[in-house]
Amino acid sequence: MKKDLTKYFFILLFAAIVGYSLDITLIAMLAAAIGLIVWQTHRVNLLNKWLDNPRDNTMPEMGGLYYLLHKKLNNRNIQFAKRKKQLAGLLGQFRKAVGAMPDAIVLIDPAGKIEWANNNSIELLSIRWPDDAGVRFTDLIRHPEIDTILNSDSSLKETKEINSIRLNQQDINLKSVPYSSDTRMIIARDVSRLIKVNQMHTDFVANVSHELKTPLTVLRGYIEILQGSGNMPAVFEKPIEQMNVQSLRMQLIVSDLLYLAKLEDKANKVPHTSINMTNLINTIIESVQPLLEDKRHRVSLDIDHKLSLLGAETEVHSAISNLVTNAIHYTEPKGKIRIQWVSTEQGAMLSVQDNGLGIPPHHLHRLTQRFYRVDTDRSREGGGTGLGLAIVKHVLQRHDAELEIVSSEGIGSKFICHFTSTQVIPSQDIKSA
Ligand code: ADP
Repeated sequence: MKKDLTKYFFILLFAAIVGYSLDITLIAMLAAAIGLIVWQTHRVNLLNKWLDNPRDNTMPEMGGLYYLLHKKLNNRNIQFAKRKKQLAGLLGQFRKAVGAMPDAIVLIDPAGKIEWANNNSIELLSIRWPDDAGVRFTDLIRHPEIDTILNSDSSLKETKEINSIRLNQQDINLKSVPYSSDTRMIIARDVSRLIKVNQMHTDFVANVSHELKTPLTVLRGYIEILQGSGNMPAVFEKPIEQMNVQSLRMQLIVSDLLYLAKLEDKANKVPHTSINMTNLINTIIESVQPLLEDKRHRVSLDIDHKLSLLGAETEVHSAISNLVTNAIHYTEPKGKIRIQWVSTEQGAMLSVQDNGLGIPPHHLHRLTQRFYRVDTDRSREGGGTGLGLAIVKHVLQRHDAELEIVSSEGIGSKFICHFTSTQVIPSQDIKSA
């Protein structure tokens, strides 16, 4: 820069001296300045031309500041070209890896049109790349559940999942994941085998439970005969009583397992009948009255009498009954139990709250697993089968509802069932329903 300025200064000085000797100082300086401008413009022009085609590595001959500018731009271009090559290589590798994945991966734009798809998309979703580029995903795969998740506004921000749908004679698990600010990635996986294994497991448990039912009934019949016979030797009284208690427990477990199998059976559809929740809750409280009196608990109710639920009454009865029985069992005598059935923004909620033992936080996420207990001895003492909350979870799933558990050790627990508005008949609609 300094060098260039010195050069311009001496050119102008030279023009001034020559001009002075010819008595045309100003004109000579002006001519020199114009000359300098034309020369600079020419060099900018050369640089501009080269920038239009930087791959042409023949750098125009330049000096001074322009040479430095030119050199810097050229180095940057070489770096960009290198990085571009690296990125293209990485992208190629990434696409190869994604292409080799056993899942189908499809990228869709905000309008739901296909931007890219991997090889497995043909097998799992019948989407061909690049033939189907730009086609709307939901035009190629027509399924109401897919329409719902892809057309919801929140799908651009949140991951949505359909556990399993039947497509091309396969059970497919489908996920929509927000990918970049306006693109979503659809990941489809064949879960046919998993579903088959789960079904086999469910059938096995149901069959074993069914097979155990008759021998247990016979066993219990004999135990009752022995107990009622009146001439049993005293030494057998305790063992027979133990046999009675344990066989009763086995009967309860078998009956709960059979009930769970029934809930899991997809062919067993949930009826959409209106349930009078006030009556249902009162019936449940009446049926547990002996237990309540035994432990001298107090029950308080907060019930919207005009709010009804749509669903299967026996199933909802079983779910609430399990929650209330648990609240009674896991609360020290003279405890407080509160049952709420009220409307919410999303629909309605049913909650059973106690001021009992509470549950340490690390157990909460496992409570609805079969046979999971916080304290096994306590559960058995109270006659628990370890299947109550699993039944609650299944009943709620069948009614499009969710279970929330809030608990503090030593303070108490609240089990909240959140129902959506589609499962609820609000107070004002009750007459027309
Ligand atoms: P169980 O027949 O053992 O009660 P559940 O599936 O109904 O089986 O409950 C699982 C476990 O969750 C119970 O063993 C108990 O440890 C815990 N639990 C359930 N309800 C409550 C509650 N209201 N307060 C404290 N712990 C509870």
